[in-house]
Amino acid sequence: MKLRDKDFEFEHELGAGNGGTVSKVKHVPTGIVMARKNIIVSVDDESNRKKAERQLKSELKILHECKSEFIVSSYGAFSHDGAVSVCMEYMDLGSLDGIYKKHGAIAEATVVKIAVHVLKGLMYLADNKILHRDIKPSNILVNSKGQVKITDFGVSKQVLDTLARTFTGTQGYLAPERITSGDVYTVTSDIWALGLTLIEIATAKHVYPMMTLFEMMTYVQDSDPPSLPPGKFSPLFEDLISKCVIKDHMQRAGPEGLLQHPYCMDAVEGGISLLEWTNTLDKDE
Ligand code: ADP
Ligand code: MG
Repeated sequence: MKLRDKDFEFEHELGAGNGGTVSKVKHVPTGIVMARKNIIVSVDDESNRKKAERQLKSELKILHECKSEFIVSSYGAFSHDGAVSVCMEYMDLGSLDGIYKKHGAIAEATVVKIAVHVLKGLMYLADNKILHRDIKPSNILVNSKGQVKITDFGVSKQVLDTLARTFTGTQGYLAPERITSGDVYTVTSDIWALGLTLIEIATAKHVYPMMTLFEMMTYVQDSDPPSLPPGKFSPLFEDLISKCVIKDHMQRAGPEGLLQHPYCMDAVEGGISLLEWTNTLDKDE
């Protein structure tokens, strides 16, 4: 189906990030409610802009082909008035950052379930040769069916760079290997970011608060890896986190390896249902 700007009815804004804004919209011809992300392609030179737009669209096409219950699906993308719009599945409970800011820290048993979903999403992407590159609470979305899915992945560094300063990435979650050498990016860099994300949602606190980028970069390299506050969480959970934030990326496991962690295995088999959890959350209306 061809998506066009004029076929959308705006409902309200859902949030804004580095790259643009996301709105809840209705696609009038089909009646489908979607989340529409508007990315301003702010490259001054016209031919660069065209190039960036083309490249972004070709990558978005790859994302469009990703189909997994652990990945937010895409309805398609189109460009209009110097911006690119990506239309995605609307997730009615929003993102994990919004959820913990509103409802407080997420219980450990739920956090592990979420971790399993994210790991399965990352495994699906890895099988399709895609790295996420931007795992963080705001890129993990939840709906009232009890589904947890990842979004905003795979757009390559080159495209982000060409798309200019608006895209600085999310520096707080950068793995040590990305700081020392910006080019090293492996699937285990996503795991580092997952570790920080799990600590953040389980404690309702950002792991590196109030630091400038430079402070954070030095800090990540010079200090011990982040960990959960002692005595508040189960040893298995502490162990899972410590496996995610091993500083040497060569020693860090990938998604498949971490899914073998005993805590993840237990969570897959039983544990609390995410639907029970999502039933306790407020819907965005
Ligand atoms: P960031 O991820 O850095 O916060 P984004 O522009 O990617 O910035 O997203 C802004 C906000 O929009 C997110 O924090 C999230 O809460 C919301 N959002 C993004 N995609 C969706 C979606 N598919 N469904 C519902 N809310 C979404
Ligand atoms: Mg995002």
